[in-house]
Formats: sequence, structure tokens, C-alpha cells
Amino acid sequence: MESSKKSIRLFKPLVDKNDVLEFQKVFEDQWLGLGSSVYDLESQWSQTIGNKFSIATNSATSALHLACESFKFPAESEILVPSLTFVSSVTSIIYSNLRPVFVDICPVSLNLDINLLSKYITAKTKAILVVHYGGEPAKMDALCQFAKDFNLRVIEDCAHTQGGSYLGKKLGTWGDIGCFSFEEKKGMTTGDGGMLITDSEEINTYVRKARWLGIDKDTWSRADQKGAVARNYIIDVLGFKYNMNNLAASLGLAQLKKLSLINSTKTKYIKRYLQTIKKCNRLQALLPYSQINSTDCSYWLFGVRTSERDALISFLDSKGISHGIHFTPINEQPYFKKFAHITPVASSISKKILTLPLSAAHTLEEIEYVCDALEEFDSEYVSS
Ligand SMILES: *Cc1c(COP(=O)(O)O)cnc(C)c1O
Repeated sequence: MESSKKSIRLFKPLVDKNDVLEFQKVFEDQWLGLGSSVYDLESQWSQTIGNKFSIATNSATSALHLACESFKFPAESEILVPSLTFVSSVTSIIYSNLRPVFVDICPVSLNLDINLLSKYITAKTKAILVVHYGGEPAKMDALCQFAKDFNLRVIEDCAHTQGGSYLGKKLGTWGDIGCFSFEEKKGMTTGDGGMLITDSEEINTYVRKARWLGIDKDTWSRADQKGAVARNYIIDVLGFKYNMNNLAASLGLAQLKKLSLINSTKTKYIKRYLQTIKKCNRLQALLPYSQINSTDCSYWLFGVRTSERDALISFLDSKGISHGIHFTPINEQPYFKKFAHITPVASSISKKILTLPLSAAHTLEEIEYVCDALEEFDSEYVSS
């Protein structure tokens, strides 16, 4: 009998009973907002990554915004950012009254092209906001050297990696600030959530206040053991309501226990995909996957590049296999055209890329179903 058409999601969170149990504890304590689970997640994250200060937020978008605010750059300062990224990398800059300067990408890694950086430097350039696209590390040794030479700060957008390394040093710890995402589709999750990490005491002090409306002591640290809340606090910065809450953090605590399982399962699936891609003539892997044999391997995306993307899309649709495009260059989106820089490499590559199903919650059988479909497309499918 012909097997029925499957329905394979692009991303799925790895959730189970242990997440529910951890979530339940928060209800037993009857403290749902910013509290001990948030602090526990922060200290466990610092242990996982090996940085000094971790501050949990309600998204990576808000973490990136706080990162841009924390340096107190003059208005209209310029921040270098890759064109092939999610919109949040760029909105965080604009929220802070700074100017995004779109840098074209390296055709191999799809990260911002370090060789082009000097072309974009002006007297107003203050920072580089670098993205580890898909989990492929940017060349942080060269990038940090460049930043040092030009006296620029470095913000790492680590939304696509959770515990990945480059040259044995964790991503997020190379720059002044690293920002992670725990959004539902991004590896381990808190539903929505983010984490800002830094080794700078000064940045930590500012971000801690700023994520909680600028209040120097949050409600949890003002509460005594009986839950009575001290009245006095001081506000000396303009803050935001960007904190993580205990509900989200409790999920994060349960998910963090599974982080190495999540990363190693995805690594195994990427290796399976790469075996298939090696045999294909019409498909190439999205990324070099240079860290695939490393112990600190944390990729978000698997995908392909093909000049027959439309045909592949209709073929995958016929097989019930979800797919996505990460991303259209942000400088080509209508709102961002006013900041436009021409980025020909990002422009042409973004027309060829397609993201395929990958998460630790997929089964090997599902990944093999996709691999079989890719082989079938490669060998037989003729576009009409
Ligand atoms: C998803 C994503 C973000 C935003 O993460 P949220 O937690 O959803 O705010 C930021 N940067 C990049 C590159 C992303 O892909």
C-alpha cells in the first residue's frame, strides 16, 4: 500500500512531562512574575556559557534593544549589521535612535563579510552587530581584531545558536554582549524569551535596571521571606518592561537540562542530511557546517541552496514537507529601504536558499523521509 502523505513541520519544540512539572512548581509557589526561577535560569545559563552576568528578558529582540541602549552612543551613530538576518537585529538598532548600516554577506558562511567591513566605516561607526547565521559562527577572531582596530563595540546576535563555540570559545562571549533567543522555534525554548550576557559590570548594572522599568531593585529582591515588599526604590534610567517571568523561566530550567540532547540530536540529523546532499547534483547544503564535528556544535537551521527553488517548493508541498526562507535581506524590505545599501551577494543568495525541517523533536524517520524526497527531487523531478 502506498504510504499516506506525511505532514512534517519545519520546527518543533522538544517538550514533555518534565517541562510541565517544572512549570507546576511556579504555581505551587504562587509567584508567577520575575522571581527565583528567573534568577536560577540566569545563573545556570552563566554556568553553561561560562560568562559572568546573564540577564533574562522576554525575547531576544528586547535583549538586543537593551544591548544597543547600553553603550549610550550618540543618536544617529552607525551600527554595522549583516543584511541577511531576522528583522529584530535591525529594529533593535533603530529603536535606540541609531542607524543600521547593512553589510553584504560572505557567499560561503552567509555571515557578514569581514573583508568588506572597512568599506562601511565612517566617523559615526560605533559598533558591529554580528549574527551567527543559522548557527554557523562568524570569524570572531578576525572580527574582534577589526573592532579593536577601529574602536568599535561588538554585539553578538546568538539567536541561532545555544552553546555553540568558535575556536573553542563560546559564541556570545567574544563580543561585549551576546543575546540569545528562547523563542519557540529556536532550539531550547521558554515560549518567548531571551538572555543577554556580558562580562562587564557596568553593562550588567544598566541592563538589570533597564529590563525592569529602570527600577534599581526588582519586586523579588525587595520582598522579604514573608513576601512583604519594601516600598523604596530609585529610578535613574529610562527603563523598559522587558523582564522574563517565572512561568517562562521554569520552562527554561526544564529545557536547559535537555540542551545538550537538543544540540546533539540536531547535529545527528544535519549529518544525515549532509550524506544525502553529497549525492545530489541540483542541491547544495545551505551552510558549510564547519562545526559539525565539534563537541560544542549548535546549529539552528538546515537547508539547501538551489537554482530551482520554485520547483523544489512545489515538490516538497506535494510531499507534505514544510519549508521556509531565512531570510529576504532586510534592506530589501519596504520599511528598511530608507537605510538601503546594495548587498548583491545577499540579494542573489537569498533567492536560492530554502530551510528544511530540523529540530530535536523530529524523529529520525521524519528526517529520512525528507532525505528520500530530496534524492527523488534531485534524480527524477523535472520542473514543468
Ligand atoms: C529569532 C531571531 C531574533 C529574535 O528572537 P526573539 O526571541 O523572537 O525576539 C533575533 N535575531 C535573529 C537573527 C533571529 O533569528
